[in-house]
Amino acid sequence: MSKERRPLIAGNWKMHKTVAAAVDTVRELKDRLPPDPGCEVVVAPPFTALHALAKELAGCPVKLAAQNVHAENQGAFTGEISAPMLSEVGCTHVIVGHSERRELFGEDDEDVNRKLKAVLGARLTPIVCLGETIEQREAGATIERITDQLNRGLRGLDEAEARRLVVAYEPVWAIGTGRTAGPDDAQQAHAALRAQVRERFGEAVASAMRILYGGSARPDNAAGLLAEADVDGLLVGGASLAAESLASIVEAAEPRSSVGSENDSNGAAG
Ligand code: PEP
Repeated sequence: MSKERRPLIAGNWKMHKTVAAAVDTVRELKDRLPPDPGCEVVVAPPFTALHALAKELAGCPVKLAAQNVHAENQGAFTGEISAPMLSEVGCTHVIVGHSERRELFGEDDEDVNRKLKAVLGARLTPIVCLGETIEQREAGATIERITDQLNRGLRGLDEAEARRLVVAYEPVWAIGTGRTAGPDDAQQAHAALRAQVRERFGEAVASAMRILYGGSARPDNAAGLLAEADVDGLLVGGASLAAESLASIVEAAEPRSSVGSENDSNGAAG
């Protein structure tokens, strides 16, 4: 299969950085990146920094993601933020179903499904996360687990909606642990996810869909992961906090041919 999908490198800053620190990091990142990086670059700061970063990133190819969203557009949901609000503040992408949301905040595949529909409804790009636990991996249930999460998470989507998604395979045991899935293991999981997408939505959607790897990706292992046929980018936590290391990871993605694809930015708000 040709690698015509434009790589995407997304940095998830989790609950780190003040607004001032987020602005500083993005300024340094802009200095370090070429004006037209050979891949799509997205940063996901805490909600509090979204507005300031939207201003800082105006006219720059680096895009802005939220780390979470509520499934409803508005209402009495104290403390929550909706997809239209994220669009208004300048987000183009939203991370949905991160394993920390699933593990620490009890989100399940049904929540993921509702959230991703809300994100699509606001013309934003969902980055839908899924991945197996160490117990599931050791029981040989990785592929079953992740294809099941994919099927449940994407329930009810039509082909046009599926085309607008980015999927992130993030083995839970590799997130924030320093343990990375080897390129072969990542490729196997990504190929299985793409095969599942093909079965559900057809070849055109499957071959255009970007499937990112996440889990202790760093400058020193990025190129090896990105060299795999079905690894179309990286979702990076810890190693995205410093502009220098995020820029190195972007550089590792650059030599790839970047023809772009229909789900590159998905015509979202930015
Ligand atoms: C993540 O939070 O999505 C992640 C992959 O974290 P880390 O890179 O730190 O493992």
